[in-house]
Amino acid sequence: MIYLDNAATTPVRPEVIEAMLPYFNQFYGNPSNLYSLALRSRRALDEARATVAKAIGARGPEEIVFTGCGTEADNLAVLGLARARQNLGRHIITSTIEHHAVLYACEELRREGFQVTKLAVDRYGLVDPQELAAALRPDTILVSIMAANNEVGTIQPLRQLAQVVAGHQAYFHTDAVQATGAIPLKVEEWGIDALSLSAHKFYGPKGVGALYLRQGVKPWSVNYGGGQERGLRSGTENVPGIVGLAKALELATQGLEERLEPWRAKRDFLKEKLLAALPEAQLTGHPQERLPGSVSLVIPRLEGESLLILLDRQGICASGGAACSAGHGGISHVLAAMGVGPELGRGSLRLTLAPDIEYELLEEAAEKIAAAVQKLWKVNAISARSHRSGRRRGER
Ligand code: PLP
Repeated sequence: MIYLDNAATTPVRPEVIEAMLPYFNQFYGNPSNLYSLALRSRRALDEARATVAKAIGARGPEEIVFTGCGTEADNLAVLGLARARQNLGRHIITSTIEHHAVLYACEELRREGFQVTKLAVDRYGLVDPQELAAALRPDTILVSIMAANNEVGTIQPLRQLAQVVAGHQAYFHTDAVQATGAIPLKVEEWGIDALSLSAHKFYGPKGVGALYLRQGVKPWSVNYGGGQERGLRSGTENVPGIVGLAKALELATQGLEERLEPWRAKRDFLKEKLLAALPEAQLTGHPQERLPGSVSLVIPRLEGESLLILLDRQGICASGGAACSAGHGGISHVLAAMGVGPELGRGSLRLTLAPDIEYELLEEAAEKIAAAVQKLWKVNAISARSHRSGRRRGER
């Protein structure tokens, strides 16, 4: 098997499993209790919080809230911060290429009477800081723009965007679910007020995420119950998951700078092989400002799903990008926002590489992908010809 879908999820690293194991049946106390077994769990949470804070350049552990996933972190940031600040204004800004965890939360706010501005992106998927500056209003209370896109890998100029917001009353939140562990993040230095991340994207377990909230930034809760996580995320903490998240984040961020160049080189190797074999294909997303493991393409005269099925038979796990959205001619909202037409957008392919994948596997994958595309093109051409000749016969 050649796994090229690390943007969807990643395998849990052995060191992470090892760190988690004792918290399933040895140190299984509920961290809200007072006996030693429970305090052991509480200590594990405290340590995990400190590790996460350090990894993203936060000031301290009290700025980290653990959540049930990246979606929950995004929802808490967008819904929670907008609702908490509605006495200051009811305008929020986001972009057209956000994940649905942010976009649908914004739609919910619109139903509640908030005004939502969605910033357009250029053909590479970049938000323009000047357009953000122009969209800010005295009643803007929140800006939410993703750090890096899950479909096309484009990395936003995060620091610049946060700087634009800095002089205003609005908070700046970023969905860094794809960016965490793939680009260095410095929340305090860059002036970011809130940041979402999710463990299963950086070799941690599924079903656990975190939200960074700068000191003093306090959303309303979006769930109700026992008041865990400073009342921001009720529910008994997923202690093994949180320990796993922290361990995975520590491993993903330590020495990241040195891993970036070789990782990017592998990405570019695969991209170049594919574009050489399939000259009609086009790269989507930014050519340079993109995640180190991300290759995304659109291929003409092709249904992406047929390709994925064919690739699966060849042992290749790949993705077509995010689910198609109604109202965009059957293509994803991200490609539509970048100006990709429905004809091309249907043939979208997303390949996301682990940093340690071997070149031989990339070579093999490129050959198999190119062969599968050529096979589908041939089948499509034959069926189009027989369709045309059938029609001609019918007309006579
Ligand atoms: N945001 C982005 C950019 C994502 O790529 C994803 C997952 O694909 C999410 C949010 C949601 O994260 P989770 O799967 O942990 O809910």
